Amino acid sequence: MKSLQRESPYPMVPVTEAQQIIAAHSAPLPTEAISVLEAAGRVLAADVHSSEAMPDVAKSVVDGYALQASDGRAERRVLAEVVAGGSDTATVAAGTAVRIMTGAPLPDGADAVVMVEETEEQGGMLRVQRDIRSGQNIRTVGQDVGLHELIVPQGAVLGAAEVGLLAMVGITRVTVYRRPRVAIVSTGDEVIEPDAPRTRGEVRDSNRYALLAAIREAGGEPISLGIARDDEDVQRTALLRGFEQADVVLSSGGVSMGTRDLIKPLLAALGTIHFGRVLFKPGKPTTFATVDGKLAFGLPGFPASSLVSFEVFVRPALRRLQGDARPDRPRVQVALSEPIRPSPDRPEYQRIIVVWQDGQLVARSTGPQISSRLLSLRSANGLLIVPPGEAVFQPGATLDALLTGPLVTI
Ligand code: AMP
Ligand code: MG
Repeated sequence: MKSLQRESPYPMVPVTEAQQIIAAHSAPLPTEAISVLEAAGRVLAADVHSSEAMPDVAKSVVDGYALQASDGRAERRVLAEVVAGGSDTATVAAGTAVRIMTGAPLPDGADAVVMVEETEEQGGMLRVQRDIRSGQNIRTVGQDVGLHELIVPQGAVLGAAEVGLLAMVGITRVTVYRRPRVAIVSTGDEVIEPDAPRTRGEVRDSNRYALLAAIREAGGEPISLGIARDDEDVQRTALLRGFEQADVVLSSGGVSMGTRDLIKPLLAALGTIHFGRVLFKPGKPTTFATVDGKLAFGLPGFPASSLVSFEVFVRPALRRLQGDARPDRPRVQVALSEPIRPSPDRPEYQRIIVVWQDGQLVARSTGPQISSRLLSLRSANGLLIVPPGEAVFQPGATLDALLTGPLVTI
């Protein structure tokens, strides 16, 4: 029987150092061309400029009459009508006007458009009830998009506006970074499928389910490798299957100091471990390795630890792999609404609900923060970064937090 080790051979690295080590191994994946219709949520791989000005000709902003402002309120003769998309053209001279619809090209000679609501037309003559300013109600060439203007920069996440902008400049296929394929294996003899009958002491595999969802939320393509028993060969086989299919392999459990914690030695044998412990709570044993250029994260077994470690270490890597120019969560200052007790020796990432209240961001605790309590993450939209120490942080004190979800208002 293997004996228990008393001391980890792995030094504890600070969180920021661990993140830098991971970032150094997280270069963007190759690119692929896809339809803009499928591009929402993807990251653009090359700057897109407009090859045209928009609008390309001056146009009317309203339904009304195109005319010359210098005629003032004098009556004008209505010559013709132009509509958006129509082929009719007309020229406006002094004393004349052209009926014009929204989006129709401005006739030559006109320098203003008067809204129909501010006019009267009778017997082909137009009367205007208001003073007219040259240029009013006209969209000038390039007002919306300049010629050669940068439309969407490389590294931008494509949302509704960006998809619309690409369509606006006539681009229906774009080059984006490939999504990372991310495999996850759960370890543990006590771990069972969530839909299997459970006997005393067994634990349902909530980690794999949660992580599969987290991978998808982070823009990755999740691959489930199931549950691997606490057996070296079984876990090695599962990891190798992961490296075969995926860019990133995650494991849950088996990274601590127990005799059945096999992930660290397996990763060390397969590749290179870059760190095996982090000065961090919850999730001290979080391990990062590379195997033939692929990334491997040994995540802790306790549910809150595994998901918080994913958020702090894995998610930024997945964002970097897909080329996101802003891979990190926003870091903000929040005011505490209740006393917060720090961990004596490690920075602790406490789960909080960040609300906008009385003109500031306020942190509300999600309750007990023990690492087995997944409920500490329910509805959480932030991680409060609590520096280590003895003194309790009092209500009203401010601390840094990572915003992991949309703000809540009350
Ligand atoms: P380990 O790090 O393997 O010692 O696991 C620590 C604890 O986390 C175990 O005792 C389980 O209670 C829990 N655990 C491990 N794997 C999972 C999992 N896949 N889903 C939920 N809980 C787990
Ligand atoms: Mg285990």
